[in-house]
Amino acid sequence: MDYPISVLAQAERKVVDTKTLPFGKIPTEHMFIAEYKDGSWKNARVTPFQELTLSPLTLCLHYGQTVFEGMKAFLMDDGSINIFRMDKHYRRFNMSLSRMCMPDVPESLFKGAIRRLVGLDADWIPTDDDGSLYIRPFMIASEERLGVKVSEEYLFMVVCSPTYRYYTQPLRIKVETKYVRAAEGGTGSAKCGGNYGAAYYPTSLARAEGFDQVLWTDSKTHEFIEESGTMNAMFIIDGTLITPALTGSILDGVTRDSILSIAREKGMKVEERPVRYKEIVAALKSGKRVEAFGAGTAAVVAPIAVISMDDEDYECYTGDDATMYELRDHLLAIRRGRLPDTHNWNNIVEKFAVT
Ligand SMILES: *Cc1c(COP(=O)(O)O)cnc(C)c1O
Repeated sequence: MDYPISVLAQAERKVVDTKTLPFGKIPTEHMFIAEYKDGSWKNARVTPFQELTLSPLTLCLHYGQTVFEGMKAFLMDDGSINIFRMDKHYRRFNMSLSRMCMPDVPESLFKGAIRRLVGLDADWIPTDDDGSLYIRPFMIASEERLGVKVSEEYLFMVVCSPTYRYYTQPLRIKVETKYVRAAEGGTGSAKCGGNYGAAYYPTSLARAEGFDQVLWTDSKTHEFIEESGTMNAMFIIDGTLITPALTGSILDGVTRDSILSIAREKGMKVEERPVRYKEIVAALKSGKRVEAFGAGTAAVVAPIAVISMDDEDYECYTGDDATMYELRDHLLAIRRGRLPDTHNWNNIVEKFAVT
């Protein structure tokens, strides 16, 4: 059953030159918003992009009940609009919401909102191979109350922004052994705003030392690699793809999952297991070819050029023939319709015209 969504669109299109602008600065013309009150979702609507008015008492401004997703729409070679892996993003959104005591979004509301919005703002999807439309579904606690409590009212919204290559240079990262992003039993596997706020300080210290990001380690021993900044960490050592297994403190990335599937299909050896950072140091010291990269929706594959561990810098392989680029290009080819979509990852969306 389709969730009723009204469309209050403005007919005029104002696609501007988005290529020169930083990631996420320019929203498309429209947005989606729905309100949760008295136990149900109401007023689901696509509207012109607009500001919100919130009371300073609004709960999300104080106690952190905020959850988001990040996904992308691509233009396929035949002109179709493709939203990538909407199912997995939907499941993860609800998983994050339940961890934060926030209500589920019905599947038809989530998918209907995104289909409508992307269909309407389709002219904003970049046509270049390195371009796509970033889609940001999110939910905030909107009840007005200063007392600490689980909110009984929420806003579910979706906004979009054209995006191109996220990082232009291979990254320099530092293994973080003092601060942690997430602990066992915490919220590391949920895409909630608080995880990011808590990561800023250690990341800013690493930036001051000349690094782009930190490579997080586990909270108990600081020996095992968890994630890199806001991406899942992956390594290719002697042709084997190695990535930390999903524990409660690592986010279950859609890009991670897609790359693991592609690697397995290509016949690569894939290992999801605990990864000691000392193991990576040993491989780098032994002169083996080590590729390291972050995997995430925004950057897709972000090559890592330098990893600093115990105050020593190590260089990883980032040559043009690196296997990580082959995996990235394979993923891109599926999204563009150049390779068969054997996993049903693509969701074709109708262009939606305002009449
Ligand atoms: C979103 C996110 C990722 C990447 O997940 P994708 O689904 O591939 O975008 C990895 N780590 C963290 C902490 C994230 O928030």
